[in-house]
Amino acid sequence: MTQTFEDRAIVVGGGPVGLITALDLVQRGVPVLVLEAETTPIQDPRGAAFHPPTLEVLERLGVLDDLMAIGLKIPLWQVRNRDGSIVAEFDLGVLKDHTAYPYRFHLGQQKVVPVLLAALAKQPMAEVRFGHRVTGFEEQADGVIVHYTDDVGAASELTGRWLIGADGARSQVRKASGIAFEGFTWPERFVVTNLADDLEKYGFAYTNYVTDPDRWAVVLRLEDEAGEPNWRVTYPTDPALSDEEVLDPASVQERLVDVISGAEKLTVRYSGICRVHQRVAAEFRRGRVMLVGDAAHINNPLGGFGLNSGVQDAANLAAKLADVWHGRSDDTVLDRYDRQRRTSNIEFVQKASIRNKKMIDERDPEVRRRSQEELGAIAGSPERALSHLLESSMINSVRAAAEIE
Ligand SMILES: Cc1cc2nc3c(=O)[nH]c(=O)nc-3n(C[C@H](O)[C@H](O)[C@H](O)COP(=O)(O)OP(=O)(O)OC[C@H]3O[C@@H](n4cnc5c(N)ncnc54)[C@H](O)[C@@H]3O)c2cc1C
Repeated sequence: MTQTFEDRAIVVGGGPVGLITALDLVQRGVPVLVLEAETTPIQDPRGAAFHPPTLEVLERLGVLDDLMAIGLKIPLWQVRNRDGSIVAEFDLGVLKDHTAYPYRFHLGQQKVVPVLLAALAKQPMAEVRFGHRVTGFEEQADGVIVHYTDDVGAASELTGRWLIGADGARSQVRKASGIAFEGFTWPERFVVTNLADDLEKYGFAYTNYVTDPDRWAVVLRLEDEAGEPNWRVTYPTDPALSDEEVLDPASVQERLVDVISGAEKLTVRYSGICRVHQRVAAEFRRGRVMLVGDAAHINNPLGGFGLNSGVQDAANLAAKLADVWHGRSDDTVLDRYDRQRRTSNIEFVQKASIRNKKMIDERDPEVRRRSQEELGAIAGSPERALSHLLESSMINSVRAAAEIE
């Protein structure tokens, strides 16, 4: 019997990147079905810092105003030492001739997801099904058959024309495709905390990178639903300690007061632990299957590039797949998606996030002194600060990717 395929793209994973891919596709006239394994959206505090090119995509998709209403604009960021001294301060306002959004934007990704779901709910050609865990797929000449289990574990299948793996770092779509995830895992894990205290009174800006070989930290201002401070402090663990030892409340408290110079006791609302990797999929497209977001690439969070990069994957792929869908391009344009986004991830995200980690945890005092002097000199020169911020805000990397044929 000849297999028939539903006329739709199937997006596996209802995280931020999967939902943005779906929203962009459906707004371009491509019917979409999103399959999400969990029965409700994931609540883990993870990505929270958004760069200007991401805000441009969210504006085009019509969701930026709703997000702006619940997040924070961040006009400047600092690099500091643990004793509270400031190494460099960067004012993002210098980007004003390069983007309509010359700032960072802070909002936990778990708060972004409901806004995206609400936007998708208004689209008659989009459907999101929770409790659908994809277990594998078969590709045929005209489409894909996707296998899944539902929320009670019953196995079933459905079909579509194209398959997009937006199912995160452990992507089943990537594994079932046999695509390698090349790279490495850092020995140290990172502890992620949320604090109810007001850290501004200790001189912190809304984004801070606190340098130290063993006890560095990233300190970001976030807010809870009531608009109260909910600062995110992320720091590295000693690889020799167990998760229980690392997350012991006394240990968390000791590490936090050590890095929040001037504080004696802090109010910890949340603490969790994550493994950190640098990996890029060997292919972002194989046949009718494409990978986006963490399914395609993962990196350490220093600089806030992971989700931002995933949003660019989503926007890049949606434009090309819509062209294929509507017969404006043949499917070789999807190989250009691979060339543009994979290159951008390898050349910018991987290198810059590793460089940022080296900047924050440099062990050699002389190298550290020189690197701090250099950073101070960059921040002190308007021209050099602009070129530094065009890089670190991902504007250059998005422009460079667009030039790749
Ligand atoms: C501590 C920390 C801080 C970070 N900070 C930043 C930051 O400031 N800025 C930034 O840009 N990035 C940041 N990141 C990275 C960011 O969180 C990720 O890049 C982002 O979550 C990727 O989104 P995604 O939609 O690709 O994947 P995910 O958010 O992982 O979503 C994948 C979805 O797929 C679903 N799924 C998984 N398997 C299946 C299956 N088999 N079938 C169906 N559904 C499935 C999952 O349930 C999930 O909902 C940070 C990460 C961490 C850990």
